[in-house]
Amino acid sequence: MTGRGEPVLIAEGLTKHFRMSSGFLNRRPSLVRAVDDVSLEIGTTETLALVGESGSGKTTTARLILRLIEPTAGRVLFQGQDVHALRGMPLRRFRKDVQVIFQDPRAALNPRRTVFEILRDPLLLHGLASQSEVRSIVAEILERVGLSPAYRYLDRYPREFSGGQLQRICVARAISLQPRLVVADEPVSALDVSVRAQILQLMQSLQQDSGLAYLFITHDLAVVRAIAHQVAVMYLGKIVESGPVESIFTDPLHPYTRALLSVTPVPNPRRARERDRIILHGEIPSPANPPSGCRFHTRCPFVMDACRTQEPNLRLLSEGHQVACHLIKG
Ligand code: SF4
Repeated sequence: MTGRGEPVLIAEGLTKHFRMSSGFLNRRPSLVRAVDDVSLEIGTTETLALVGESGSGKTTTARLILRLIEPTAGRVLFQGQDVHALRGMPLRRFRKDVQVIFQDPRAALNPRRTVFEILRDPLLLHGLASQSEVRSIVAEILERVGLSPAYRYLDRYPREFSGGQLQRICVARAISLQPRLVVADEPVSALDVSVRAQILQLMQSLQQDSGLAYLFITHDLAVVRAIAHQVAVMYLGKIVESGPVESIFTDPLHPYTRALLSVTPVPNPRRARERDRIILHGEIPSPANPPSGCRFHTRCPFVMDACRTQEPNLRLLSEGHQVACHLIKG
């Protein structure tokens, strides 16, 4: 599996805190630390998987990268430009160059529009097709995502498609603008297992053909192994471990990564090392009140005194493999 190339996207110290009203007049609003000092980099033809349980801050990180919300601190550079400072034409270009695929394709597509209309409008809006050629361009894109022959699908409505076909239409919409980066937020988790592999294969072949980068958000490490080049594991707003996919899967270091891997099916269960298994207990704590020191200490089987008071920093151990844990000595 290839990847990397020059970075298309760099996030530096990305932080997002939300003020949440307590609902009581005499109580101060609480601060929800959804994302805290997250830095990551995605190469031109690379897939970076952002992994973690629900509530770990993955989707907020994606929304910051997509410029759907403003950061409290830090910045996002897309092809060298600060995304949150873009205005006018450069912002319009960013909206074209960075596309998104959502988890639920049924909710992502307008039920009152045909597939042709759904794909036509962005092409016209961004000047990538004229009125006279747009139908044949849309047909070509549908063929690329495996909806072939395209004439059978063009004038149908979303309700007439299966979940897998709808996600192909969402992929078609995302690639139609020839983006450089696609943010895919749990794009296969709502699909049947049999369809998942097909959508992942489609995304991989589009990456190879078009030189795309993906930010792939998921809680499912089996999916990560199939598609990612790099992995960043998030817990309660922080990246706790990151590195090349092989390194993360063969030598996971952070107890949280190991716990996620413990519940991931492996091709040969006999080779799964029993001593590496960690079963997570309890729920992820609230980001409105994160634990002191290491945020994972309330669930970590290896917790030490220092973990309760000192926050571990991410440290580089080998070839891009970083981990934030007092247990791991560099
Ligand atoms: Fe566990 Fe301590 Fe490492 Fe946190 S720093 S993961 S509590 S051993």
